[in-house]
Amino acid sequence: MKKVSFVVPVYNEESNLKEFHKRMTAVMAALTYDYEIIFVDDGSSDTSPILLQELADQDSHVEAYLLSRNYGHQLALTCGLDHAEGDAVITMDGDLQHPPEMVPEMLANWEKGFQIVQTIRKATEDASFFKRFTSSVYYLLINKLSRVEITPGGSDFRLMDKQAVQAFRLYRERARFIRGMVNTLGFKVARMEFVAPPRFAGKSKYSLHKMLHFALDGITAFSNLPLRWALYCGLLCGLISLCVILHVLFEKYVMNDAVPGWATMTVSITFLGGIQLIGIGILGEYIGRIFEEVKQRPLYIVGRHITKHT
Ligand code: UDP
Ligand code: MG
Repeated sequence: MKKVSFVVPVYNEESNLKEFHKRMTAVMAALTYDYEIIFVDDGSSDTSPILLQELADQDSHVEAYLLSRNYGHQLALTCGLDHAEGDAVITMDGDLQHPPEMVPEMLANWEKGFQIVQTIRKATEDASFFKRFTSSVYYLLINKLSRVEITPGGSDFRLMDKQAVQAFRLYRERARFIRGMVNTLGFKVARMEFVAPPRFAGKSKYSLHKMLHFALDGITAFSNLPLRWALYCGLLCGLISLCVILHVLFEKYVMNDAVPGWATMTVSITFLGGIQLIGIGILGEYIGRIFEEVKQRPLYIVGRHITKHT
């Protein structure tokens, strides 16, 4: 019998875990697959770890890795992908925004020979205007910048077969934008659209800070264009300054005019200062990431592995 692994990152999802397990179990009961549900607890501070132990004790399909602290969604997913043993692995959120009822159709696509089944979020029922707006602007921007196509609405609800997962495991970078990385793998990809329902319970665990960081990781991991822009800006400014210098010399030696205006000076100083700071900032973003990568630290540390009665 073929085995399917589910990888579910969990960060303070105590009010969702039981319901998630119930719905997932109902879906799998109707199918003829062996399966495992791998929860990755991303340093929850609520009762999620206790609930996970209870679920593992009740149901031998369940196991959990408890990370030693909060590493973030993308690294929690990575931990699960590293440990999944199934012939196909499905990653999905633990808040039921990725409906388990879509799993049979994903598996059907896999059986047809697709090695990756990528779901595309058409909409999220309770997404704020702010989240929808920033998300669409962001995908427009990242697709202009990078050579890898990153589908708007691409979510981390996806199926990968064993071969794709093994390929993915070779990617060990720290700054992870998994939906972009998966797009660089190749393989035969099927796409399925869905509308994400509101969270079953609780609040989104993606703070504005986490979202911003994730967005920057996405751009810097897939494009060097911002660096080139900084260079172009520098060249343009150099050209403008040259014109200003020529103008000043002309005023002094040809026109024998008074000191050129104070305004010109101030404007050019602040203008150049601004451009330089932007350039340094962009450089800093990349250097910071290089620094993170060269340290070669482990991506995550597992504090405890939960299976039945451990
Ligand atoms: N999550 C995580 N670590 C984090 C933030 C989120 O493991 O630091 C998990 C969270 O428990 C959920 C999934 O990642 O299962 C998606 O997070 P969330 O639903 O908060 O994001 P949203 O759907 O609002 O984008
Ligand atoms: Mg969610």
